[in-house]
Amino acid sequence: MDFEFTPEEEAFRGEVHKFLDENLPAEGGRDPASVAKWNKLVREKRWVGFSWPVEVGGGGGDIMQQVVLKEEMARRKAPPLGSCFMGLAWVGPAIIEYGTEEQKQKFIPDILDGKYQWCTGYSEPDSGSDLASLKCKAVRDGDHYVVNGQKIWTSIAMWSKWMILLVRTSANPDDKHDGITCLLVEMDSDGLEVRPIKNMAGGAMFAEVFFNDLRVPVENRLGDEGQGWRVTISALAHERSGIAEIHGLLRSLEAITELARTCRKNGKPAVEDPGIRRRLVKAGTRIEAMRLNGMRFLTKQLKGEKVGPETSINKLHRAALEIELGELALEIQGSAAPLMKGAADVPDDGRWQTFALSWPEVVIGGGTPNIQKNIIAERILGLPKD
Ligand SMILES: Cc1cc2nc3c(=O)[nH]c(=O)nc-3n(C[C@H](O)[C@H](O)[C@H](O)COP(=O)(O)OP(=O)(O)OC[C@H]3O[C@@H](n4cnc5c(N)ncnc54)[C@H](O)[C@@H]3O)c2cc1C
Repeated sequence: MDFEFTPEEEAFRGEVHKFLDENLPAEGGRDPASVAKWNKLVREKRWVGFSWPVEVGGGGGDIMQQVVLKEEMARRKAPPLGSCFMGLAWVGPAIIEYGTEEQKQKFIPDILDGKYQWCTGYSEPDSGSDLASLKCKAVRDGDHYVVNGQKIWTSIAMWSKWMILLVRTSANPDDKHDGITCLLVEMDSDGLEVRPIKNMAGGAMFAEVFFNDLRVPVENRLGDEGQGWRVTISALAHERSGIAEIHGLLRSLEAITELARTCRKNGKPAVEDPGIRRRLVKAGTRIEAMRLNGMRFLTKQLKGEKVGPETSINKLHRAALEIELGELALEIQGSAAPLMKGAADVPDDGRWQTFALSWPEVVIGGGTPNIQKNIIAERILGLPKD
């Protein structure tokens, strides 16, 4: 494996540095107007959807340039490239791969411009890990599908204009995977109701979504009828192929190390405590292991191969790290740990209390640790299916 960057890639890094020096809003001054200006500038640079084909308005950038771009953005703590998170992460790539020309023209520019949000209607009350057992039903009626059923844990459903939705179009038990179809649904349609769910950290960022004779035009089907599973696998591969996730973890580790410098344990700065130091170093080592594993996906991508089950290794490490870092931050705070945001004397304005209660977002969302272990056991280690 060659860890060096080519002169062209280093020249591109220089271009990114220059752009950031000239345009990055200061961390403390990121009000909505300066973030909007930033979004416009990075869109003009074609750095939003950087790796998407030029024909759909993307940057046509290659994989290594994308790595350089993401690394430099993360190092300088820049705002995200584009504001339509799910649109950029998997809805857009799925539309580019499976969409009609009309769908591409209708949705891709808005995703790149961040005009509105997308949400993802996959999970149901009895279909999470075993997603292919989903029951939400769509029946063809002329040039529409009529949808009835329920989704749950739908992140940002309250603020989204569109949803990528999986429905069952065949009741034949032999068609488990082939009986699933993907529809693109406008959230303000009649027959669709959103009920927010409050999480244990006090936020309400996900919801239940109910469908009651919702009518969806056939032209809003993504891919063929019965092809929804393939569309989803391809969409989720985009979710899991990023190596940028380690930068977020590194930033948390840096901030927790700083916290350990300011909080005291046994009369000394907590960072001098051997137990705390060991855990900080262990977390750093684990992040480095994730970075190197990320290089494995990258190598595969550079060879034109599909990224496979090795992404589950990073998902599993990340789940463990999110829990470990949250617990460590609270331990470092000692007697201040039980304080909540808003309490007097709570360190870092209660940021770590919220962090420690937010682990389900990354640990459960996108596949639980048990499911990742099953994938690693069966598809990497070749163990029999349990
Ligand atoms: C913060 C957050 C955001 C989310 N956002 C979305 C979203 O936007 N859209 C969406 O569709 N979904 C979303 N989800 C749902 C998420 O995808 C599911 O929660 C996840 O797939 C697990 O499904 P489940 O909750 O039904 O748990 P289950 O599948 O019922 O699992 C329950 C327990 O059983 C274990 N288990 C299940 N099957 C196996 C097995 N075969 N072997 C070993 N153990 C097993 C699991 O590991 C888990 O511990 C979100 C979840 C969270 C927490």
